[in-house]
Amino acid sequence: MTVYNFNAGPAILPPEVLSQAQEELRDYNGVGISVMEMSHRSKEFEAINSEAEARFKRLLGIESGYRVLFMQGGASSQFSTVPMNLLPADRVADYILTGVWSEKARDEAQKLGQVHIAASTADEQYRRIPRQDEIQLSENPAYVHITTNNTIYGTQWQTLPNVGEHLLVADMSSDIMSRPFDATKFGVVYAGAQKNLGPSGVTVVLIREDWLDRAPKSVPTMLRYATHAKNNSLYNTPPTFGIYMLNLVLGWIEAQGGLAGMAVHNQRKASAIYGAIDGSNGFYTGHATLDSRSQMNITFRLPSEALEKQFVSVAQNAGMIGLAGHRSVGGIRASVYNAMSIAGAEALASLMREFAGQNS
Ligand SMILES: *Cc1c(COP(=O)(O)O)cnc(C)c1O
Repeated sequence: MTVYNFNAGPAILPPEVLSQAQEELRDYNGVGISVMEMSHRSKEFEAINSEAEARFKRLLGIESGYRVLFMQGGASSQFSTVPMNLLPADRVADYILTGVWSEKARDEAQKLGQVHIAASTADEQYRRIPRQDEIQLSENPAYVHITTNNTIYGTQWQTLPNVGEHLLVADMSSDIMSRPFDATKFGVVYAGAQKNLGPSGVTVVLIREDWLDRAPKSVPTMLRYATHAKNNSLYNTPPTFGIYMLNLVLGWIEAQGGLAGMAVHNQRKASAIYGAIDGSNGFYTGHATLDSRSQMNITFRLPSEALEKQFVSVAQNAGMIGLAGHRSVGGIRASVYNAMSIAGAEALASLMREFAGQNS
């Protein structure tokens, strides 16, 4: 039976990438040993490492002015690394709250400096992204932090907020490389790899070169962006196998037509599943408002918790796994990251129609 993996993260990887990794596992490129067994200073690994950075920039269409760093500690470590490096004592950082992950990012920043909440939809159970006219920036923010896709609630910024001449810092863990975006609007973009880019263990950071040296002297060596930039992410032993996998995934995205190709693919998958929600006469109710729907995490409820449990189990028997919602919101969550096929999304949509027909 074909298994469709709707896990929220760690998540589905492209089958072509897994096959290539399997083929090369014991003998990378004729060297006779695995990538996992190689020095991170070997010419083979250095080539993988620099190809990954080059591919990342190429996908975003940026030639200069930015670095791509491969770090550890997950997106959660970036919640504090960002303000440690980029929020001076005499400045304020603006945070827009769209879910639990942005709250966590704010909490860390508050431990380290001054924070202004520029907008929040917390009192609407984070069902939507704030409108432009609800965003109130502080006078001269060091940066404006957003979470581009809210993995738990299933909401996503449809267009970037307008923050004037200021720069954005974004947690893109769950929608990075799923659609084109204008990198020049950002000072920093960070993402744990385990949703759209590869296995867990690597954290990707895109940073403006002129932001690299802003950290006060007190910031420890390993937590300074400049350390990792100066050493091409090889200051200490990086997660080499994860970076190798990430490089293969980036190559796969290029082969799918880059970010424009991914956007078309993701749009088709999301509309298949949202179509099943909207066509169910209220059997399924989406958590997100129509104008804030995520193309990566599709969240919805059924008429009762008992039916939700039954749905998850029927889906599981049909080979569709990972559909239970996050423990904090319940319901169903279908994560349809880049690597999910259109066939997988259509299979879920058709199961949803069948299940609604039998149970409403
Ligand atoms: C999964 C996720 C995180 C947490 O990432 P870790 O790598 O586990 O720290 C943070 N932000 C968002 C938006 C996520 O989806």
